[in-house]
This record gives sequence, structure tokens and C-alpha cells, in this order.
Amino acid sequence: PPFDQRDGFIWYNGALVPWRDAKLHVLSHGLHYGSCVFEGERAYNGKIFKSREHSERFRRSAEILDFEIPFSVEELDAAKDATLKANKLLNSYVRPVAWRGSEMMAVAAQHSTINVAIAVWDWPSMFDIATKMKGIKLDIAEYRRPDPQTAPSMAKAAGLYMICTISKHRAERRGYADALMLDWQGRVAECTGANVFFVKDGALHTPIADCFLDGITRRTVIDLAKARGIEVIERRIMPDELASLEECFICGTGAEVTPVAEIGPYKFVPGAISRALIEDYDKAVNA
Ligand code: PMP
Repeated sequence: PPFDQRDGFIWYNGALVPWRDAKLHVLSHGLHYGSCVFEGERAYNGKIFKSREHSERFRRSAEILDFEIPFSVEELDAAKDATLKANKLLNSYVRPVAWRGSEMMAVAAQHSTINVAIAVWDWPSMFDIATKMKGIKLDIAEYRRPDPQTAPSMAKAAGLYMICTISKHRAERRGYADALMLDWQGRVAECTGANVFFVKDGALHTPIADCFLDGITRRTVIDLAKARGIEVIERRIMPDELASLEECFICGTGAEVTPVAEIGPYKFVPGAISRALIEDYDKAVNA
């Protein structure tokens, strides 16, 4: 069913309300001016993976947009757990969102209320390992990640997802699963909802997260690789280098670790390092 017509409960400004009643007014600042930030998390066996890190990033994203979420990290963590329980979900996607409300309707909205909601819904892992190891196909997006001097590139801000949705739709229409976005200088950045890694000569290579979302999964993968003794190199990666890289995978809360077989004209063979990190990530989230 559509997302506004489901059963269950949504946490809304401090209380659980029936799912269908969790509404906002059309004259909400967050809708008109993009004063909105969100998170995307997953619960495995009833436990949210890195809940605290997500709550911290949620509050930080809001600060970057010049507003403060009126709940502490501890309160947010407890609210997420309460929402999971109320909906009787163990394996679930978790979506906190915060936005400026309807008190003021102009660019300036200093005194608007900051609203916070948390919804959870069933979202199983996208693929089994056999399907995953075939690898997905990525297009190269027309839009680039904005210069951090042009937009708050590091925040998980709703407004930044405009270019992600456009890029993802165009990629899907052209027969690709997703789009790889370059940064404002033309270097490889990230996908529309996931970070990207490459393998060459036994080492992991990934772009420096200075103008795109530094994913919690990205940081987890870096730690898991290092724990295996795999060298991790964060560096500038130009698209014409893709021909010389051997394996590629994307990672994020939704995508988990998903190998890539093609990026535009470049081909990759999902291999041993991708497989090892899929398995390590699976163990980490289920620990
Ligand atoms: N980049 C973008 C644009 C995303 O939307 C996401 C998903 N939140 C990621 C990267 C990966 O972040 P995380 O690992 O924290 O889910």
C-alpha cells in the first residue's frame, strides 16, 4: 500500500500516533524550502545497527542546516526502539526525519517549530549473495555533487536528494540500477544513495568523503577491511581510471554491500574481496 495508507504507529514529536494520522500541513517550511534532514537505518533482529552514530549524524545534519533537533541522541535512540516495538518489527528500515513546521512561510523562518518523526517499515535485504555477486550496472549521472561552498554537501539534507532522484530516474529509464555521481571537480563521488569502493592489486580504493555523505556503512567497511589486513586508500579517483580498477561495490544502509559489474563502458568482475566484505558486513550487522 502507499506509504500514507498503512497500519501501525509513527513516532511524532515525542509520542506514538496511528500511522495514518502522522500528517503535516501543506504550508510546511520543510516542504517549500527544503529545511528538512533525515536518516536511514536498519534494524537486524530487533537491534538498530549503529543507532547512536545515526542519531548523531541526524543532529549534525540539522546543525549544518542551522536548526537544532529538540531531542538528544539518547532520546532519539529510545524513540527509534519504541517505534520498532510498537510496530512489532525486528528486521526493518528506520526513517527519522526532522523539518521546519508551518509557523512561518518565507525564506526566513527562525521561529518555526522543529518537528521530528520516526517511521519504520519492513525492507528486506535487496539480494541474496548469488544475485549480489552478479553485480549491478551503474550509469554515470549528469548532475554532480555540489561544491561544499555551494551547498551543505555533507549533510543528509532532503534538498540534496533532488539531484539524486533525477539521476536515479534517468539511470533506471536507461536500464541501469543506479547512477554514479561525480563531484563538482569531475572526480568519482558516490551513488544516489550509497558510497562506492574499488579493488586494485588487493587494496581498497575509495573517494575522500569531502563533498558527499560519509556513510556509516562506508566507515564500517573501511574498519572491516582493515581488520582483515586489507589496505584502504582514500584518494581522488578520476572516471577514466575506472578501466584499471578490478572490483567495484557500493555500500549503504539500504544497499548493504552490493557488487557492481558495469559503470557505463567500464566492466568489473565481482571477486574475493567484495565477497569477503559482504560476509563481514553481514556478520557485523547481525552481531
Ligand atoms: N550517500 C548517499 C547519498 C546516501 O543517501 C546514503 C544512504 N544514507 C549513503 C551515501 C550511505 O550512507 P549510510 O552508509 O550511512 O547509509
